[in-house]
Amino acid sequence: MDKVDCVVIGAGVVGLAVARALALQGREVMVLEAANAIGTGTSSRNSEVIHAGIYYPQGSLKALLCVPGKQLLYDYCGQRGVGHQRCGKLIVATSEAQAAELRGIMAKAAANGVNDLVLLTREQATSMEPQLACVAAVHSPGTGIVDSHALMLALQGDLEHAGGFVVFNSPLAHAQCGQGAITLVAQDGTELEASSVVNAAGLQAPALAAHFAGLDPAFVPPAYYAKGNYFTLSGRSPFSRLIYPVPEPAAQLAGLGVHLTIDLGGQAKFGPDVQWVDSPDDLLVDPSRGEAFYAEVRKYWPALPDGALLPGYAGIRPKIQPPGAPARDFVIEGPRTHGVPGLVNLFGIESPGLTSSLAIGSHVASMLRA
Ligand SMILES: Cc1cc2nc3c(=O)[nH]c(=O)nc-3n(C[C@H](O)[C@H](O)[C@H](O)COP(=O)(O)OP(=O)(O)OC[C@H]3O[C@@H](n4cnc5c(N)ncnc54)[C@H](O)[C@@H]3O)c2cc1C
Repeated sequence: MDKVDCVVIGAGVVGLAVARALALQGREVMVLEAANAIGTGTSSRNSEVIHAGIYYPQGSLKALLCVPGKQLLYDYCGQRGVGHQRCGKLIVATSEAQAAELRGIMAKAAANGVNDLVLLTREQATSMEPQLACVAAVHSPGTGIVDSHALMLALQGDLEHAGGFVVFNSPLAHAQCGQGAITLVAQDGTELEASSVVNAAGLQAPALAAHFAGLDPAFVPPAYYAKGNYFTLSGRSPFSRLIYPVPEPAAQLAGLGVHLTIDLGGQAKFGPDVQWVDSPDDLLVDPSRGEAFYAEVRKYWPALPDGALLPGYAGIRPKIQPPGAPARDFVIEGPRTHGVPGLVNLFGIESPGLTSSLAIGSHVASMLRA
């Protein structure tokens, strides 16, 4: 049987960042990827926003990894020529009740170490974005956008430069966890022995971990799928910054509300909404969901013309709590938690997973430091 020091399962942005961090520590690293290319999962179906770290509970992994992860990502993009833009975002209150919540949002952000938010009056906000309708707003200058594909290519390049590699078309089927090593069995029956294994299989991570013999099932959460649909705007973007509504309490459970993001090519899109689905492969956008988008978007952009929204794409959030339950934190569990030497499982790596990817990579690599 072939032996490798470290195996990372999944070549999404998180798996690649973990693999890169392990390779930069001088470890031998192989990434096993089920698909025939990097980043074909959730990592290519998101908003590509570099989040500031505003909403997450103080001390949560989401806060602790997003805030430094944002800076690591800006620095990395600058050094490696990965397309990005620190365009900023406005969180807009469209009622007096929402306006009263803006100070709470700023306090939550400050508790996470995000101290650059600025409270704006209606006049200040509309002088920045003339087409905006709002009562008040918060400006987050540290929010930005990134070319997620270029980022993943750069991570793969670093991994390969450090001697690691990705093996495509290689879905892992199950594993046997022993004291000294973990035996991995691919779907074609090929066996491989590794001293460290990182399960970064995204939406499939819980199902895969359920097939790790020797891992207590108590450490495998259930999987739920919250699809986020996007509708793209035909024509030019009316805004140069990202526009987010104040999250409604119910929306906060699963998403941040229907917001406007812009990609590096200037294309504006609205979304993602929240649609709980039964399958991680349910990626078609139902055009009839557009009706609800018009109503949501016109709260902050009344001039949205009829017929301007076109069905775009969808991504699925890898949830580990059922519909209606409070949002859960990232779950990143290593030997100290579940007792299996050399194994780290990553569950529920939803937003801000892209922003946090480099910080997650360092965190996991330190958990596995020999
Ligand atoms: C709608 C939406 C919007 C989002 N917007 C943002 C945002 O703006 N900013 C932000 O920071 N984050 C955002 N996120 C979160 C971010 O996209 C994810 O956290 C991140 O992409 C997760 O990356 P990953 O590598 O864990 O998973 P994935 O990208 O899903 O990668 C997992 C990989 O594992 C592979 N795999 C699965 N099973 C196996 C197996 N058995 N064997 C081998 N390989 C396997 C898959 O093929 C896949 O390539 C968003 C997410 C969604 C759904």
